[in-house]
Amino acid sequence: MAKINENFEKLPGSYLFAEIARRTEAFQEANPDADIIKLGIGDVTRPLVSAVREAMHEAIDEQASSDTFKGYGPYEGYAFLREAIAEHDYASRGMDIEPDEIFVSDGAKSDCGNIGDILSVDNTIAVCDPVYPVYVDSNAIEGRAGEYDVDAEEWTRIHYMPTTAENGFCPALPSGDVDVIYLCSPNNPTGTVLTSEQLKAWVDYANAHDALIMFDAAYERFITEPDIPHSIFEVEGAKTCAIEFRSFSKTAGFTGMRCGYAVIPKALVRQGQSLNELWMRRQSTKFNGASYIIQKGAAAIYTPEGAKQVEASLDYYRQNAKVIKEGLESAGLEVYGAVNSPYVWCKTPHAMGSWDFFNKLLEEAQVVTTPGAGFGPAGEGYIRLTAFGDADQTREAVERIKRIL
Ligand code: PLP
Repeated sequence: MAKINENFEKLPGSYLFAEIARRTEAFQEANPDADIIKLGIGDVTRPLVSAVREAMHEAIDEQASSDTFKGYGPYEGYAFLREAIAEHDYASRGMDIEPDEIFVSDGAKSDCGNIGDILSVDNTIAVCDPVYPVYVDSNAIEGRAGEYDVDAEEWTRIHYMPTTAENGFCPALPSGDVDVIYLCSPNNPTGTVLTSEQLKAWVDYANAHDALIMFDAAYERFITEPDIPHSIFEVEGAKTCAIEFRSFSKTAGFTGMRCGYAVIPKALVRQGQSLNELWMRRQSTKFNGASYIIQKGAAAIYTPEGAKQVEASLDYYRQNAKVIKEGLESAGLEVYGAVNSPYVWCKTPHAMGSWDFFNKLLEEAQVVTTPGAGFGPAGEGYIRLTAFGDADQTREAVERIKRIL
């Protein structure tokens, strides 16, 4: 008899966005004239820039001739893209990352979710709370999370690190041993960042305990403050303890195109095994490479024209983030994130529950947000708003919220 992976049965339903959609639809049905503005889900809305589109058109035309046609590509990504990444994302900021330490993929979600393939199920996992759910659920599927405690809304074997206003959105170092630590900066959902000193403490902890840091830098391009690290490899010692994930999704509007990459330094070794080699083995077994056309599009963001165009799109979202942050602050709310991130993390007024404040904003302002509690127990008492919407709609949403508060 074929048996299933029973860990799937332990997973709680993916409640958050389904529940948001359910409540939004119910409200719209009851109020057909309501003009709802959605600042909830973190998907981009700006079109692909012309440099990217033109590069992809050229790549498609290459498929018309057998001289330039591309079949299977390298598992780890084409050299032209890995070299551009090494130069523009790393060397330009003083980091020495070699192209063969970079693995191009179809996105950071796949990489964050798949990286567990090269790790033992015995590892103890630590995550921030609130957290991007992929880190937790992928470990649960692979059997590293223990049992799900419905009342606590936590897995028994996962070490949750509260990451709230009280600790400046930097989790405390664990007192016991943990083996794999997921960090995300700029953070989803809190929109906050980790400083060099804060990251250095984590790198030192990981090296001292032979632990691994999974560093998710999917929102790196939103950093505006000069001293904030864009990569964990800006921190001394990180090459012996960290893997970094990056994505073209929010950087360049690739949520539908699908492209990202992981950086696994050759110096990263556990139990005598190179994790770079293990990941190459994993990718060559289970992944046949990202699309050539998409990789050509991704490489175009590193050209002078592409870089300028992508910056203009990012500025559009950055301006939305500023509008949301300043608007909510002027309404007397306590607001975090936004400065180095497309996410605005807002404390609910009068200690209101996340879902209660979500309902209030939906019903009274017709604005959809994301309740912080959906990202973990420590997200209770917050909501997340995203800067990825239309600028006029964002301004209108903020005005409405100001009016009702
Ligand atoms: N990491 C974080 C923190 C995210 O918020 C997201 C997407 O929302 C991803 C990774 C996934 O990115 P990608 O679109 O490259 O799969």
